[in-house]
Amino acid sequence: MNIQNVKPVTKCPRCKGDGFVIAPRENLVMLECEECAHMWLTHSKICPDCKQPNGYFVDGPCRPCYSVRKQLL
Ligand SMILES: [Zn+2]
Ligand SMILES: [Zn+2]
Repeated sequence: MNIQNVKPVTKCPRCKGDGFVIAPRENLVMLECEECAHMWLTHSKICPDCKQPNGYFVDGPCRPCYSVRKQLL
């Protein structure tokens, strides 16, 4: 899979269906389409707390920071 020119794509490039994250890898996330099972890569958003890729394609804290936030509540 070509990771050289990854674009911020959150909808399936094949059928425009919604994707869900199957595998975060460094600053990218691999998505799979709910409709046709097509897989593609997109950019991960940056965690606002630790400034690292959060492993999701939507804004929000990464998993470790999310659990820290929950403990503080
Ligand atoms: Zn699709
Ligand atoms: Zn974080």
